[in-house]
Amino acid sequence: MAQAANSLRSHFRGMCEALASLVFPAPCRICAQILDTGSRIPFCHPCMEALQQTLPEPQCSRCGRPIVSTAVAGGISQPECHLCRSQVYSFDLARSYGAYTPRMARAILQLKYGNVAPLGSWFARRLTLLIARQPDPFVADAVVPVPLDHGRMRERGFNQAELIARPLAHLIGIPFRSYLLVRTRPRPCQLRLTRRERWETVRGAYATHKMAQVDKLRVILVDDVFTTGATLDACSRALKEAGAARVVGLTVARALLQSPAPEAGWQDQDFGE
Ligand SMILES: [Zn+2]
Ligand SMILES: [Zn+2]
Repeated sequence: MAQAANSLRSHFRGMCEALASLVFPAPCRICAQILDTGSRIPFCHPCMEALQQTLPEPQCSRCGRPIVSTAVAGGISQPECHLCRSQVYSFDLARSYGAYTPRMARAILQLKYGNVAPLGSWFARRLTLLIARQPDPFVADAVVPVPLDHGRMRERGFNQAELIARPLAHLIGIPFRSYLLVRTRPRPCQLRLTRRERWETVRGAYATHKMAQVDKLRVILVDDVFTTGATLDACSRALKEAGAARVVGLTVARALLQSPAPEAGWQDQDFGE
């Protein structure tokens, strides 16, 4: 009964949105082209298509970073990046859906500040495609979003990683456990951080909840952007110290070395870390 009411409500909302888009044509929130159809996600078709891209191959077998190496491309050496060869990361595996392009950055900004919650489900479906592309199945006991600190959570009202992780958990049928991890130290106010500062600000900034049962748990950790990997690493360290057996990090986007510098209009993007 409740389900029927919900479906009726969402159908009605869809009709209202379609009608509103006819009466008040809205611009695409990425490129500002006027949208011609009603959609719960205010992006035009070309922008939606541009968001659906994969990362270049080959990638590091552990952290998923695209690597440029003729030896690897020729299949001579084990595809592992220099950071993973030096055992920098504590997570067992990390994968990202697509590159952190200017369009992707704007899309993620809409998830954070644009009040476009349906985008979380759209990104979650991209992550299911990413999971389906992996050669080995992802076996996990819990899906955990990278948490925000209390102050930020209060200020924003929601955690963007949770908007992606919750529908993802539902889609892959693995329990959603946002309470397992907490951010104990706030992120500094400064918006743009150097690579070194990113590592320093997140080191020891996360902990498992004191009531959480993490022992032997296999965790899928979800965030919006993988920039240096410092955040996933710090979260993974906290989970492993509490006894987690395996941590796989999944992010929607991956900042690549050649990712363009932020342009006017989204300078406040904080790259998720
Ligand atoms: Zn557009
Ligand atoms: Zn790597």
